Parts: sequence; structure tokens; C-alpha cells
Amino acid sequence: MIDLNDPEIIFALNAVQKASQLIQMVQTETAASALTKGDKSPVTVADFASQALVSYLLMVDFPDAVLVGEEASDALKEEGAEHLLEQVTAYAARFIPEAKPASVCEWIDRGAADSANRFWTLDPIDGTKGFIRGDQYAVALALVEEGDVKIGVLGCPNLTDGFISEPGGEGSLLIAVRGEGTWLTSIAGFEKNDWKRIQASPRAEGVEARLMRSFESGHTDVSKIDQFASALGTQAEPVRMDSQVKYAVLAAGAGEIILRLLSPKMPDYQEKIWDQAAGSLVLEEAGGRISDLSGKPLDFSSGRKLVNNRGVLATNGLLHEAALKALKDVGA
Ligand code: AMP
Ligand code: MG
Repeated sequence: MIDLNDPEIIFALNAVQKASQLIQMVQTETAASALTKGDKSPVTVADFASQALVSYLLMVDFPDAVLVGEEASDALKEEGAEHLLEQVTAYAARFIPEAKPASVCEWIDRGAADSANRFWTLDPIDGTKGFIRGDQYAVALALVEEGDVKIGVLGCPNLTDGFISEPGGEGSLLIAVRGEGTWLTSIAGFEKNDWKRIQASPRAEGVEARLMRSFESGHTDVSKIDQFASALGTQAEPVRMDSQVKYAVLAAGAGEIILRLLSPKMPDYQEKIWDQAAGSLVLEEAGGRISDLSGKPLDFSSGRKLVNNRGVLATNGLLHEAALKALKDVGA
């Protein structure tokens, strides 16, 4: 069982729960409008406010902690962005009454660190495109020590029981602590201490492997995935879903394989650590396995990106070797 008296565990659960609740408020109250970042990915009021809140809570509990977060405040300080910054500040102020535009920007930018020997990494909204569609997204927070993930927490507001897609439902909060398993409750269930341990699926045959696919085809290589599916011999219906919610579904036993192949449009894409850290431990502690496409463990010790890895393969564990072989067969 996880130690619910551990201050870092309590912080991580509380921060992800509050950020999830904040994002839900934005989703129900405002039509999501997005800015486009330099890499062409969208970012919304909710991404910024979520990072400001988690960063603030970390600063209060652990003032010296290092945070590697996805967002930066530059775009909020540009001419014409005043209204956006006001909105971000108003949402942050629902949880932090003293929030002001300048302090909100400072909190967001506490996440600008490069990795360190011990650090937290945050994706304030993983799957922003899913969030904008009213579909799946996750708040992902992890503690990394010497390149190894020690705590991983996922908040999945539109997912019920760790695997059922249900926008507006009670949501799922998952925590994994190295050596202590993966545990699930609802977003509100953390206070009720209503945890259940979850386990990856027992399917061991390629023919019955359910493939979890990205919703956004630009994030992967769709035709290679089709070749992989035939090489593995799967007959099961694939599932399309955004973000690290896919790792929650695998950890809960409702899928077998996640692939992140490199998109032919961006063959040099390197995975960001916040897109993998929390989800990887959630899966591993539920009995799954994760590696890169050649079978190498993910290396979280080299900055903001996984520079020593190429793509990602995540499975329920039992199908990992078969999946690595199928990847080799199709030259992925
Ligand atoms: P998914 O929902 O599985 O498609 O993954 C969403 C994540 O993919 C986002 O958090 C982005 O950081 C990341 N991403 C953006 N562009 C790419 C790309 N070209 N290849 C792989 N991942 C990407
Ligand atoms: Mg992301």
C-alpha cells in the first residue's frame, strides 16, 4: 500500500486533484480558445493555470524542489495577451486567493528548470487537443531521482474507473510509487481514502492484443502501425485516445499495447519527459513494461527530452517481447 502520510505523496495527489478540478471548471465554463506555440501545438487558459497552481503548491510545501514543466509564461506577457493572462489569474485565484498576474507568471516559470539529480516533472494538460475536443486528457506529475521515476500521478477527469471514457463523469486519479503498486480512485476519492489496486491485463497472445492509438495521426506513423498490427497478428479492435490516459487504461487492464512511432513528418522528434514519466511508472507498477522501440529503458536523466531513446513501446508486460519482434520485422 502507498504511504498516505508521506509528504511528497500527499503533495502530488493534492496538486493533481486540484489542477484537475481547475481544468474541469474551465471546461464547463469557457469555450476553450487556444494559442498556438512555436512547435504548432495548442495551449489554453487551463494549461497555464494548471501549471501555475501545481508549481505554487510545490513551492509552498518544498521551496527548494526543482520543477520541469511544459509551459512558460512568455506567451502570456506578449502584447494582446492581457485578457488571457487575466483569465489565467482568475482561475488560479479560485485556489490561491492572493494570485496576481505577475505572481502567476513567476509560478509558471518555476517550471523552466532543466532536469537535476532529483526533480518533479509536470504536464499541466497532456493531450490539450483532446481537452479542446471535450475528450480525454490528463494532468501528469512525476518525481524523478537519478533518472528513475519514483512517484507518478495521473489525473484523468474524463475517465471513469481507469478505463471508461466518460466526459463529465467522476474522473480517475491514479498513483504509482516505485515498489508499492498502482492505485486508483476517483478525482474526489483521494479525501475519502477509497483506493483500489490495479493490474495490467493477462492477455498473452498477439491475436487478442488491443492497440491503443493516438487520436492525432500527426503524432505517429499510421501506416507503420498498421504493418505492426499485421506482424503481431492482432484481431482485436484498436482504441483511439489522447494523451497518457492510454497508460491509465493499460494499467487498468483494458488494453495491451501503446506505440509511439516517429511521424514521417517529424523523424527527429524526441519525446518530452513530462509526456512519459508519470504514465510509465503507473504502467510498470501495474505489471506492465515500457521501453523505447529497440527495447532500451527510458532514460529520464538527460534534460527535458528523452534524448537517449527513440520512440516508445509500452505493453501489459506479457506481450512486450512479441511486440519488440514485430517492430523489428516491420523495420520500425
Ligand atoms: P497523443 O495524445 O498520444 O497523440 O500524445 C500527445 C502528446 O504528443 C503531446 O503532449 C505532445 O507533446 C506530443 N507530440 C506533439 N507532436 C508530436 C510528434 N510529432 N510526435 C510525437 N509526439 C508528439
Ligand atoms: Mg503533453
